[in-house]
Amino acid sequence: MEDHILIRYGELSLKKSNRKQFTMRIENHIKRALKDFKALTFEARGMRFYIILNNEDSLPIVEILKKIPGIYSFSIVSRCQSNLEDICKLAHQLVLEQIKDKVQTFKIETHRADKNFPLTSLEITKEVGRYLFKTIPGLIADVHHPDFTLSLDVRVEGTFIYTKTYLGLGGFPAGSIGKTMLMISGGIDSVVAGYMAIKKGMTIEAIHFSSPPYTSDMAVQKVIDLLETICPYTEYLNINLYIVPFTPLQKAIYDNVRDDYVITIMRRMMYRISNIIAKKINALAIINGENIGQVASQTLESMATIEEVVDIPVIRPLATYDKQEIVNIATKINTYPISILPYEDCCTVFVPKHPQIKPKLSSTIQEENKIAYLPLIDEAINNTQRITLKNKQHFNYLEYSINMLNKNTSELF
Ligand code: ATP
Ligand code: MG
Repeated sequence: MEDHILIRYGELSLKKSNRKQFTMRIENHIKRALKDFKALTFEARGMRFYIILNNEDSLPIVEILKKIPGIYSFSIVSRCQSNLEDICKLAHQLVLEQIKDKVQTFKIETHRADKNFPLTSLEITKEVGRYLFKTIPGLIADVHHPDFTLSLDVRVEGTFIYTKTYLGLGGFPAGSIGKTMLMISGGIDSVVAGYMAIKKGMTIEAIHFSSPPYTSDMAVQKVIDLLETICPYTEYLNINLYIVPFTPLQKAIYDNVRDDYVITIMRRMMYRISNIIAKKINALAIINGENIGQVASQTLESMATIEEVVDIPVIRPLATYDKQEIVNIATKINTYPISILPYEDCCTVFVPKHPQIKPKLSSTIQEENKIAYLPLIDEAINNTQRITLKNKQHFNYLEYSINMLNKNTSELF
């Protein structure tokens, strides 16, 4: 008996012309993600992909596979030669392992891909069933609500038998759609938006606005920790983060513009800078965690006035979600406990009492023109730091900042 993991692909079956490219991308992602498991070997056969375990423990591998976009489902399968005797013996062994002395109901599902096999699918099901009832007392068939399904996949290269199928992440292969720029704060929403973009096949690079000394290194560290949590979902298991010093611009805004327009204008500045850096890195869209109606800057009127400054699409994966739905995803991907840590974000430092919920474009432009903001934008971009976050790396921002103080940083752009 050989143990394998059988991988099935998802949505990409819609895209016939790209199929080969898409499957290659997922296969390479799988190999990269599992590179520490030295004994594994791999076998690609059409739309299926097998990981041959060679005695590696499947449990940690299952957890990694659950994070790879484009996998629809996968099963831990045992393989034998395609003849009835071997199939019956292996089925017997797997059913015994499955029931472990408990009375359980089951059904058999047979798929016969090897059309030269002497029995039809139905006949194989009947023969194997007969053998199992004879050899395992107390086994009960239930075709409608079985406790487990014994699947037999009869192929030329062998018969694959399994009792458990895991649901994969779905979506498109990571990196297959194009690059985007994620605006990330330390909050709950934006990292979830990033995760959803990755799951849909987008490569992300991330941008964070920090306002030292009003926000601390710990606030940046929080963003780093959030991004590291979603690194395993990405094609190369890493994410670039751009840290933009936002204090001079923010101060200029607070000192010069009408109180109720401060947030609108601050967000326009963030969008402008995100747009410029996105283009420098060839990102095709901006992703953020905005959610309709959540706060004053996220009404439809605010969104329109704010996004007027950019000329690439702004994608808001969470626009229509309820907060609880977002929290559920954040909990599932383990970002929630980090997001709720109490560090200040640049948006929460100076919050006006009554922000505009319907900012007019003309008033916004009038207020904004009180500041000579173009040189401040240039300065922010020139002083932007880029760091690369890697899976399991635990980047230490405080240590990095101390090191950087002693160095002349080379220009990024
Ligand atoms: P989150 O939306 O991540 O929970 P939040 O709700 O505190 O954080 P909002 O004030 O709702 O953030 O901002 C809306 C969106 O703007 C965020 O989802 C994020 O995409 C972006 N954003 C906010 N603050 C920052 C920041 N400091 N740097 C980069 N992007 C930011
Ligand atoms: Mg939010």
